[in-house]
Amino acid sequence: MEIIEKAPAKINLGLDVLYKRDDGYHELEMVMSSIDLADHLTFRTLEKDEIIIETDNSFLPLDERNHIYQAAMLLKRECSITKGVHVQMQKRIPVAAGMAGGSSDAAATLRGLNRLWKLKLSLEELAELGEKVGSDVPYCIYGNTAYVRGKGEKIEFLPKVPQCWVVLVKPRLSVSTGTVFHNLKLEQLVHPDIQGIKESIKQQNFKKMVSSLGNSLEAVTVQNYPIVGFLKEKMQQFGADVAVMSGSGPTVFALCEKRSRAQRVCNGLKGFCEEVYLIRTLNK
Ligand code: ATP
Repeated sequence: MEIIEKAPAKINLGLDVLYKRDDGYHELEMVMSSIDLADHLTFRTLEKDEIIIETDNSFLPLDERNHIYQAAMLLKRECSITKGVHVQMQKRIPVAAGMAGGSSDAAATLRGLNRLWKLKLSLEELAELGEKVGSDVPYCIYGNTAYVRGKGEKIEFLPKVPQCWVVLVKPRLSVSTGTVFHNLKLEQLVHPDIQGIKESIKQQNFKKMVSSLGNSLEAVTVQNYPIVGFLKEKMQQFGADVAVMSGSGPTVFALCEKRSRAQRVCNGLKGFCEEVYLIRTLNK
C-alpha cells in the first residue's frame, strides 16, 4: 500500500515579532496562508527498520538532517513502530526561501504515516508532535489560512483569503532564519497591522487586506540582501496590489486581484530573476 500527501508552501500575509522570551525564542504573531505550490510525498512501509528518502532535489540532505526523516523518526518512537518507511518526494517548493518547505514536508510526513500505519492520531496530536520538529510544523499540519502566535504553536483558523493571484519571486540566495532572528534589533522593528489583516479576511475585504500586510523581518533581510528590496519595488512598479517578503525571506510575493495584472508582474520580474511563479492562494 502507498499513501500520497501534498505538502503545500505557505506565505506570511503578516509576521510580527513582539519580544524575546525567557526561553530564547521570539514571541510571534502571524497570519499564514497556503498557496498552490506543493511538494508531493509518497510513503511505503518497509519491513526493515529504516527510513529511506528519495527526491529529485540533489541539494537536500537525506539523512537525519532532513525534516521528513525527523518527523518519521519521532512518530516511530512515539508510537513504538518497528517497521521502516520509504519516502519519495517531488520537491517543488524552493528551499530555504521563507515558504516553510521543510516544515510542510514534516507535517505531510506526520499526516501520511498516521494514515499508512493507521495510528488514529488527531490533527491536534500531530500538531503537538510536529512542534518538536520545527516551529512552523503545527500550522503546516492544518494549512489553509490561520492566525498563528507563540513560536508557532497557538493556532486560530481563519476563513479563506479573498480570491487572488500570487506572484512569487525567489532570488538566488538562501537566508538562514536563525541568523535573521539572531541579528534582530527589536527596538528598530516595524510592526504590521496583524489585527487589520485578520479583520479584512473575516470581512473578505481584499483592499483592506492588502493595505494591512507586512513583515517585521523584511527590513532586517533587506539590509543584508538589498536585492530583496529591489525585487519588491519592481513588483510594485509592475502593478502589484501589494508586495511583501515571506517569512525570513528571501522570497517576495505579490498579490493581485486580477489575473492579467499578476501575469504582467510575473512577466516583468522574469527580466530580473530566474525563479518566478504565478499561482493562486489555496483554500480547500
Ligand atoms: P521557514 O519558512 O519555515 O523558515 P524555509 O522555507 O525558509 O522555512 P526550508 O526550505 O524549510 O526553509 O529549508 C531550511 C533548511 O532546512 C535548509 O537548509 C534545508 O537544507 C533543510 N531541510 C531539511 N529537510 C528539508 C526538506 N524536506 N525540505 C527543505 N529543506 C529541508
